[in-house]
Parts: sequence; C-alpha cells; structure tokens
Amino acid sequence: MIYTSTRQASAPVDAAAAIRAGAAPDGGLYMPAALPSLDIAAFDPAGSLAKTASAILTPFLAGSVLEADVGSMCAGAFDVPLPLVELENASGPVSVLELLHGPTGAFKDFGARFLFRCLDRIADAADPVTVLAATSGDTGGAVGCAAEGRANARAVILFPKGRISAFQEHQLCCWQAPVMALRVDDDFDACQAMVKQAFATPVLSARHGLTSANSISIGRLLPQVSYWAHASLQSQARTDQAAGLIIPSGNLGNALAALIARNLGFPIGPVVLATNANATLSDWARKGVFEPRASIATLANAMDVGAPSNFERLGALPDHAIHAVASISDEQIRATIARWHGETGYIACPHTATGLAAFDGLDTGPRRERPWIIAATAHPYKFADAVEPVIGETVALPDNLAGVLERPARMIDIKADLDALAAALSG
Ligand SMILES: *Cc1c(COP(=O)(O)O)cnc(C)c1O
Repeated sequence: MIYTSTRQASAPVDAAAAIRAGAAPDGGLYMPAALPSLDIAAFDPAGSLAKTASAILTPFLAGSVLEADVGSMCAGAFDVPLPLVELENASGPVSVLELLHGPTGAFKDFGARFLFRCLDRIADAADPVTVLAATSGDTGGAVGCAAEGRANARAVILFPKGRISAFQEHQLCCWQAPVMALRVDDDFDACQAMVKQAFATPVLSARHGLTSANSISIGRLLPQVSYWAHASLQSQARTDQAAGLIIPSGNLGNALAALIARNLGFPIGPVVLATNANATLSDWARKGVFEPRASIATLANAMDVGAPSNFERLGALPDHAIHAVASISDEQIRATIARWHGETGYIACPHTATGLAAFDGLDTGPRRERPWIIAATAHPYKFADAVEPVIGETVALPDNLAGVLERPARMIDIKADLDALAAALSG
C-alpha cells in the first residue's frame, strides 16, 4: 500500500514511513493512494474486534515492515470491550457504541495504542522515536498509557500547571517508562509553542527522533476504521439494515475513519456529525464554504476545535457525503444529558451528549427509518463536574479508571522555554 499527500507535492511512501512522519513534508496529510477491496461477507459480526481489525488493517500495512506483525499488534491494541448498547424509550431505534472502555476511558485509546505498537516496530534501539505532545486533557493520557513499556518509542507529554483537573493531571503522570510528564509553568498555548519550536529545531528533532501523535497521524486514523466496521456488521446482523452513524467531532479523525469504513463497503448509511459550539463544520455544511477559525471553550472540551485538521482528507475519499452537521451549545449539552438520563437512563459525557442532541435534531422520517449508532467517546466519570449537577446523582468510578487512580504519579516541573524542554529530553 502506497500513501500520498493530500497536497500531492511529496513523494509517495509506504505505511511505515507515513506513520513515522506524521504530516507529509509538503504540509499535507497522508492518505492511502487507493482503498483495498475487501470481501465484506467474509467478516464475522460475532467474531472478535481484534480479528476484524487485523483483516482490515493487513492490506493497509502491506509492503511495509509492519505487515508481518498486524495480527499481534491488533491482538494487543484491540483487547478492549466494545459494547453496542441499545437504548430503550428513545424517539427512534438508537444504540450507543461505547468507545470508552480503554485504559484511559477515551476513544483515543484505540488510535494511540495501535500507533505506539507501530512506532515501536518502525524504530529500533539505534534510532528511537520520541513522541512529543502538548495536551490539555484526553490525548496525553491515552498517549502516555500507550507508550508505557515500549522499547523504541517513548512519550514526552507537556501540560500546563494548575490548568487541568486533578484527575486529568493524574492520568497524565501515572505511566511508567518510557513516559515523561512535564508540568510547564504556563498555559496550554505555551506548551504547544514549545512543542512547535522543538519540531522546528533540526538538531533537537534529529537527536531525539521527534514525531507527533496528534490526530493527523494516519497511524491513529486507520485503527479507528476497525470499530466502525465491527459495529456496522453487528448492527446489520441485529436489524438487517445499514445503520446511520452520529459522531461527536472535533478534528474529524473519528468521522474520517467511519467514512473510510463505508468506502470499504461496510454496511453504513448516512453519517451525521455533531460538534459543540465550534461551528466551523456546521457553517460549512450550510454555506458550502470551509472557514477555519480560532476555537472557543465549551463543556465538550476535547472537541474545542475551530480548524478541523482532517477536513483536508475528505476530498481524498471517493464517497465523502455527510448527511448533516449539528452544532450543539453548552446549554443544549446540559439539557440533553438531563433528558436522556431521565428518559433512557443513559449517562452521557458532554461530548457524547452532542451526538444525542444531533439524533434529537434529525427529521422524524430519517430518525425512525433505520437504526442509528451514536459514538460515546469518553466516560462520563471524567466529566463528573459537568454531568453530576445535571443528573442529580454521582457517576460511579469504572474499573478501567480505578486502576489509573491507584498508580503513583510523577512529573518533572519545567519552565516554559525551549532550553528547559531540551534539557528534559536529554535528561
Ligand atoms: C478527541 C475527542 C473527540 C473528537 O474526535 P475527533 O476525531 O477529533 O473528531 C470527541 N470526544 C472526545 C471525548 C475526544 O477525546
């Protein structure tokens, strides 16, 4: 499989090179030059997610050093439960695909765990990689967790001191080597600026083999195709119909993965995007013009994105039709969490709630004519401050996150400058 840049000005590369690089040298994003043709009827809806993943990802990694290890990488990365929970008493046939049973309670666990298994095999002891990530929440935890125990790929995570929740800080700082958590005495923008400066400093970048794990990485995107494929097969086996998907979206990685699954021939009907008050995508759907802008802070903060980076990949897919985009305000998020909890008993995090609200907003016809699957992207426990006052009860600590809290945390405090980061990287 060959990967080309969305901007067509970089040389084509194999899967391993595309994954190691992150972005393409021309500033574009890597996409498979052509999609493989899969025999969909050969997939077993009752089989394991790891097996589905392995069958899908094998052709995507073909011809690279990763090809031989696809089965074992998938067995390790996809050993996470993936419940497709039917909700009773909703206003149409709807299920929630819970992508939140990974070790950090976020769907980003799927992408990060697969990416690090790839990087560990692409790099070697003589040429290790360092994933450098600035984080204000979810991604850093998933990246740290995925890097723990790797031999050739380490993670260095920068986060702003005093600006994230105690649970989030713990979730960034509780992972063993080769994970380093750097607590920066400044805000998130300063952390991000330090990471950018490090990437732009050739000696530093070369010495440590710097790479990024943000959502432009094709190594995070491809594994996410697996759970959409798996859920669509399961839903079709239950209902004999192709499900519509509703996807809480920020950088559009999850949605891109769903569209890739549909292009591969999996039984997926209309795709609906849900965003928070960051309305770049809903404005685009309405006006036909894509206008990236600065992000605004919302309750669904992992989706606070004004310039969705994966938008650039849409045009590279033969079928990239999007049925609708719903932009959901914080007020609607609160009301939706309360109402769905009251009517169906389901407790949603603020991100998932944008998906529930998008379902509410569908016209009655489309809402009732087919099964719908809404992605649940984070565990509500992590957003208890927002959720508990709205539902009037406490959210129980799930087992996957209880394990995190039992671990000791360690971090290194650094000043917000490049010298301090360079010293930490070498230390
Ligand atoms: C990252 C994230 C999203 C948005 O996913 P994209 O792939 O960036 O569109 C939604 N919900 C949660 C909880 C997330 O962490």
